Amino acid sequence: MPIVNDVGWHAFTSVGGHDEVVAAVSTRLGGVSAGPFESLNLSFSVEDDSSNVRENRRRFAAAIGVDESRVVCAQQVHGDRIGYVDESNAGAGYEAADTAVPGIDGMVTDRRGVTLWLGFADCVPVLLHDPVRHAVGIAHAGWRGTLATISRRLVEAMVERFGSDPANLRAAIGPSIGPCCYTVGPDVVESFERSWSSIEGLFVVDRSGDRSPRLNLWEANRRTLVGAGVLERRVAISGHCTSCEVEEFFSHRAQRGRAGRIAAVIALASGKEEHGG
Ligand SMILES: [Zn+2]
Repeated sequence: MPIVNDVGWHAFTSVGGHDEVVAAVSTRLGGVSAGPFESLNLSFSVEDDSSNVRENRRRFAAAIGVDESRVVCAQQVHGDRIGYVDESNAGAGYEAADTAVPGIDGMVTDRRGVTLWLGFADCVPVLLHDPVRHAVGIAHAGWRGTLATISRRLVEAMVERFGSDPANLRAAIGPSIGPCCYTVGPDVVESFERSWSSIEGLFVVDRSGDRSPRLNLWEANRRTLVGAGVLERRVAISGHCTSCEVEEFFSHRAQRGRAGRIAAVIALASGKEEHGG
């Protein structure tokens, strides 16, 4: 894990690579917030002080080297809609939650330096990079978004907007609550049974029946991406469970609903000439 000025973060090395893409996820480390938001809470949508959030955001943006004025944040409503964003959206949701791009849980762009930024505390960050068409995308997949196959919507947005071939896409599934910890009620199992052609391998069930079934959000999103044409070998799963690793990440579950938010971001690096074709 790189640490810049005490701010800890992870790079997604499976998407992008070289100088083409900035793709990173923050940790809890290196911020100014206290209590359940200790310390690098990046969300205005929790009961943290806004000035702390702005300072934390400034630190994370500086650590990963993105231009704060070109960050775009989405509202995140646990839906499955993806929006195209560009310079006209720069700054949306960055200084305050109410200016975020409304009604969407994912974004795509082909504009260099426009930084797609979403908040998480157990939900799954799904990141895509098309190194051929030079475009990136990100989605927020909790169980509702996963059920609604938002990862497929993200691939489709890249195809429709940029002419991406799914076989060229690099995908990353970031830190989020794992199949070790994500117990769900029978309503969630039934929802997947109704909507998905097969739920085999999506739920971990203890033989003893002592624990509720656990939903494997990583596998569900991996399967959705592959079903949408992404090559299996190009889907990387970080494998960090935010609940198990609550010292390093925020976890809505492990912190019993009082948690800050990490951020996952992706951007085409700015300052590089287009080569066309
Ligand atoms: Zn876990």
